[in-house]
Amino acid sequence: MSSAVATRYPEVVDVAIVGSGPTGSAYARILSEEVPGVTMVMFEVGPTVSDPPGAHVKNIEDPDARAAAQRASEGPGAGAATVNSPGAVKSGERRARPGTFLLEDGYAFPGEDGLPVAAMSSNVGGMSAHWTGACPRPGGRERIRFLPDLDELLDEADRLLGVTADAFDGAPFTGLVRERLAAAVDDGREPAARVQRMPLAVHRRPDGRLVWSGSDVVLGDETRGNPDFHLYDESLVTRVLVDGDGAAGVAVRDLRTGETHEVRARAVVVAADALRTPQLLWASGIRPDALGRYLNDQTQVVYAARIRDVDLGEGTEHAAPAEGGLSEQSGVSWVPYTDELPFHGQIMQLDASPIPLADDDPIVPGSIVGLGLFCAKDLQREDRIEFSDDEVDAYGMPAMRIHYRLTDRDHEVLDRAREEIARLGAAVGEPLDPRPFTMPLGASLHYQGTTRMGEANDGESVCNVDSKVWGVPGLFVAGNNVIPTATACNPTLTSVALAVRGARRLAGELVADLASVEKEH
Ligand SMILES: Cc1cc2nc3c(=O)[nH]c(=O)nc-3n(C[C@H](O)[C@H](O)[C@H](O)COP(=O)(O)OP(=O)(O)OC[C@H]3O[C@@H](n4cnc5c(N)ncnc54)[C@H](O)[C@@H]3O)c2cc1C
Repeated sequence: MSSAVATRYPEVVDVAIVGSGPTGSAYARILSEEVPGVTMVMFEVGPTVSDPPGAHVKNIEDPDARAAAQRASEGPGAGAATVNSPGAVKSGERRARPGTFLLEDGYAFPGEDGLPVAAMSSNVGGMSAHWTGACPRPGGRERIRFLPDLDELLDEADRLLGVTADAFDGAPFTGLVRERLAAAVDDGREPAARVQRMPLAVHRRPDGRLVWSGSDVVLGDETRGNPDFHLYDESLVTRVLVDGDGAAGVAVRDLRTGETHEVRARAVVVAADALRTPQLLWASGIRPDALGRYLNDQTQVVYAARIRDVDLGEGTEHAAPAEGGLSEQSGVSWVPYTDELPFHGQIMQLDASPIPLADDDPIVPGSIVGLGLFCAKDLQREDRIEFSDDEVDAYGMPAMRIHYRLTDRDHEVLDRAREEIARLGAAVGEPLDPRPFTMPLGASLHYQGTTRMGEANDGESVCNVDSKVWGVPGLFVAGNNVIPTATACNPTLTSVALAVRGARRLAGELVADLASVEKEH
């Protein structure tokens, strides 16, 4: 279908990567490091909104430029009102977070719970240009039992994402918050499951400024400096090309010209988020039984408390709060998941109260504590995303339809999470909320399972342990969609770890291919 008009794309490459979020970027980085000389293209439907490409928008100092970058990431939802804090979510309006846009329709059906605030980002860097950067490790049943190398892969994911645990050590009251949480939680827990600093994808520059990791950090200089790697933004991949030997390339629409071109490739990696990865496979006629199934999200409850019973003068010594919910004054603590309490706690010290306070009641930085618990879902095959053969979405891709229900067990876990968060809030300070608030489903932005990994091609998984799609040689999938377990912890570290494993496998295959070509000559 290549057009006669000059195209910015090459005709043939070794590897085509769809999506520029952290998981697609992990493939580009590992391949750049392990198989120099391999030609790679990365296609991203959204625009470049930050510099270096894929950088977190929070690193943009000018607030107007930052807001413009967020709007430019909101795809067909750009211009709609967004909402930045759980407090505002309580208004009940269906709103997206800045930098994201909501599924327009098909998010809920009568008699089902649906995912009313299922969201996506369309920009170079994907959601990682907007994320909070929490990178906890999975524990207990969150872990993928058939991956013996999971810990080493998670170490590598830490490296690619630039994860640190000490960026907020100087923040006021973080030690106090952790002490109070630990007193309420740690008894009887294994060391790994005790209250601790949240590992975060953030580092401090030598001048002390915080730099949040986005895909730019995952790509690194190794990929940016690789003359055989090219990133094309505003490029919608509409189809994975498949021939008798498996994946053979992609059809890509240049959104700048409207022209569609074919780019041949020896391998294709689809890392287009948990909703759009199965969408692209469906659009390509690749429709394994488990495609879109076992969709799971982490139902989230939130609560807030205020520290009042210590000398708050300690907090006022620090500089004035910066824009946004998380800044120089903030600390983030982690209450890990356990199989007995199947939720994961992200405790953030905020500079703004999620509920209005009196004008003559100034907030001491770090003294407002926002608590969030994410619950692991009871996995069901019927929880799924389906795609229409007749209707299309704003990009012209098959329209999505989400079928999603909470089970009795999910409701029971949620009740326990609400009880636990109220207990944690009271342990930390004076509760600000009358009762815990349950966020609308989809608010966690942690959708998983829709192209899940499995050990066997038994209809219950879409790809193997190396993220290779069953029955389609040369096709890899990446993202939270690959995670087969019901995690409660923020999933990106885990999905980057799985991408590392897939990328290593692909690197091995490319090297073997090159060796056999050389032998033939
Ligand atoms: C506000 C916010 C806070 C978050 N906080 C955390 C957190 O603290 N910890 C955590 O683990 N996770 C967090 N997340 C989620 C995290 O950002 C995602 O898990 C992560 O970005 C997923 O990476 P990915 O590469 O799979 O997909 P994405 O980052 O979503 O990237 C996928 C990319 O593919 C592109 N794409 C889709 N379809 C096509 C197509 N057909 N052709 C070309 N391109 C296409 C999209 O435009 C997108 O840019 C947060 C997200 C948000 C928005």
